[in-house]
Amino acid sequence: MKFCRKCRIFYSSQAAACPKCGVSYEAAKESEIAEGEADKRSVRRDWLWLAIGVPLFIGLIYLLIVLFKSIG
Ligand SMILES: [Zn+2]
Repeated sequence: MKFCRKCRIFYSSQAAACPKCGVSYEAAKESEIAEGEADKRSVRRDWLWLAIGVPLFIGLIYLLIVLFKSIG
């Protein structure tokens, strides 16, 4: 499987160049694709932590406020 960075599409390994724009495989190496995939994964992980962390943090503050009010 080859990847065209210009069109952002995967195409047949047998093809010499991208069927859409004609850019050869030399312009897009597989290692770069792997790095791109890793970046996407880490970004997704960051968002997951943000989605869990922010409500958790707000909940913790709310809990502290409730505790302070019950004491005072
Ligand atoms: Zn292309």
